[in-house]
Amino acid sequence: MAIRSHMLPRLLLAAPLPGRLARLSRRTAASMSSAPAPMGHQGPPLSLRGVVFDMDGTLTVPVIDFPAMYREVLGGDAAYAAARAAGGGSVDILHCIESWAPDEQRRAYEVIARFEQEGLDRLQIMPGASELCGFLDTKQIRRGLITRNVKSAVDLFHQRFGMMFSPALSREFRPYKPDPAPLLHICSTWDIPPNEVIMVGDSLKDDVVCGKRAGAFTCLLDETGRYGPHDSLPEDIRPDFTVSSLSEVFSVLEEHFGLAPVASESRI
Ligand SMILES: [Mg+2]
Repeated sequence: MAIRSHMLPRLLLAAPLPGRLARLSRRTAASMSSAPAPMGHQGPPLSLRGVVFDMDGTLTVPVIDFPAMYREVLGGDAAYAAARAAGGGSVDILHCIESWAPDEQRRAYEVIARFEQEGLDRLQIMPGASELCGFLDTKQIRRGLITRNVKSAVDLFHQRFGMMFSPALSREFRPYKPDPAPLLHICSTWDIPPNEVIMVGDSLKDDVVCGKRAGAFTCLLDETGRYGPHDSLPEDIRPDFTVSSLSEVFSVLEEHFGLAPVASESRI
């Protein structure tokens, strides 16, 4: 696979960060400073030995209507608006219902399960996911998964996807994202330090924050541009990379981690 230079303008990187990430930022700044962009590395590539993916909206096409689910769980528009305001514009529904009475909590979980089941019925694999995971396998890079969805959803996903992620942690693993615990657990299982792992996901508040807290690289999948320009994101939650499709992750892996596509490697 050739370097897809047409993708680079959409491949954005965070402002300079301390330590090792600072080198990463400088390299990307250089690669975006002129046209044609210089693609070579300055210095050795960073080390990457594991990729941890979010599931819903990252490995699968987003089909769950979260606002509708939140409204029904919380009891209407006013309660939803209040929860959004309390959460700074976003809702952590699992956290919201944690302190509820058992009966209310059971009803809430039933609603969530119904929305998730509807999502499963329409489950589609994200374009580029199979190719990316196949590529990681050729490089002997481990693949893990962390989701706030339930284990049965992960089981169905594995069945449909045809490739296993290991470990694959669902919301039965506590505490869940954005706590770094699940990511640290995976790193520990792999015996790989977090700074040689990248967390890829479509949620800033869950996936990116989890990855940053664990000390891993972070890649935000923002298909629709809903998070706005990369540089406008607050420093403390800004991912190392922002991509608009899983296909763009290839460019990140090649440019910053020295993972050349198999096709070009096989040429002599
Ligand atoms: Mg997601």
